[in-house]
Amino acid sequence: MEEILKVEGLKTSFMTSSGEVQAVRGVSFTVHKGEILGIVGESGSGKSVTSMTILRLLADTARIKEGSIQFEGKDLTKCNEKEMRAIRGQKIAMIFQDPMSSLNPLIPVGRQVEEMMKIHHPELKPEELKQRTLELFEQVRIPEPEKRLKSYPHEFSGGMRQRVMIAMALANHPDLLIADEPTTALDVTIQDQILKQLRTLQKQYDTSIIFITHDLGVVAELCDRVVVMYGGLVMEEAGIDEIFEHPLHPYTLGLLASIPGINKDKAERLQSIPGSPPDMTNPPKGCPFAPRCPYARNICAAECPPYVQAGGHRAMCWLLQPDAPAEGNPLYGKLAAAEK
Ligand code: SF4
Ligand code: MG
Repeated sequence: MEEILKVEGLKTSFMTSSGEVQAVRGVSFTVHKGEILGIVGESGSGKSVTSMTILRLLADTARIKEGSIQFEGKDLTKCNEKEMRAIRGQKIAMIFQDPMSSLNPLIPVGRQVEEMMKIHHPELKPEELKQRTLELFEQVRIPEPEKRLKSYPHEFSGGMRQRVMIAMALANHPDLLIADEPTTALDVTIQDQILKQLRTLQKQYDTSIIFITHDLGVVAELCDRVVVMYGGLVMEEAGIDEIFEHPLHPYTLGLLASIPGINKDKAERLQSIPGSPPDMTNPPKGCPFAPRCPYARNICAAECPPYVQAGGHRAMCWLLQPDAPAEGNPLYGKLAAAEK
């Protein structure tokens, strides 16, 4: 499958009053044409910083320390602001968790979508812009689109605002859409509708999507492949069926166990892996999950495990090494099963 984005050995840090936060510490993954790649992890895992690095929307205090981001023949880590402006919104678009932060409260939403198209297609006439915006509103199922073009962001519900954002993101038919927790603030029914719609639109436009979430349940519904991040590193990467059938990392096992059942509410879900993510001003020398991992051994805190690979599936955990003990090892023999 054609590769559209290739991130290799990416390291991004930023300065804070308490020191340098090593948010992304050597991340590699690929996005193929027309696929939906999930990046899953808790807050602080480095997933948002990774996406902001791709779009070069980092704060002034941030630095890309190492690595490359290949996109359509360019290394985005080396592009200047002018080159990035030509890419953002046009070739790579983004949807954030809070649409209010990216919508202008003083301008009707229809005009905001039109402006988005005009930046990259100045040749379009006002009538064409309006017509295209109407079509987009219809596609994302905004009721009474003609009337809604003139509404202001505050006149929409959270779910409808997110639809406006999706319309805006798709306005220029981007090759890659990065969605960072776009449904996290919405209730489950609306979330479901929006995920279904993203799937439909993705097929229609053959857009590749990076979908960032803390929720492996959402990944199951939407994604083709998934990258599991923790402590600024990729813990595991696999196809969607693979990750659910043959998980190869204790952190993934924890995430799987925390997918909500009927009676679990959000608060419970977030507590289901005891402990908290590492302090990235002083990241652990060894496996970043060691302080929370129920299977950690002496070597885990001392040294970072190497990746093992089974086809398109890879993971880093000492329990997957050939000399790992069988006893008390939830991954014993699992690599061989994954390889089949
Ligand atoms: Fe747990 Fe050790 Fe594997 Fe890290 S390397 S996930 S601490 S067993
Ligand atoms: Mg985030």
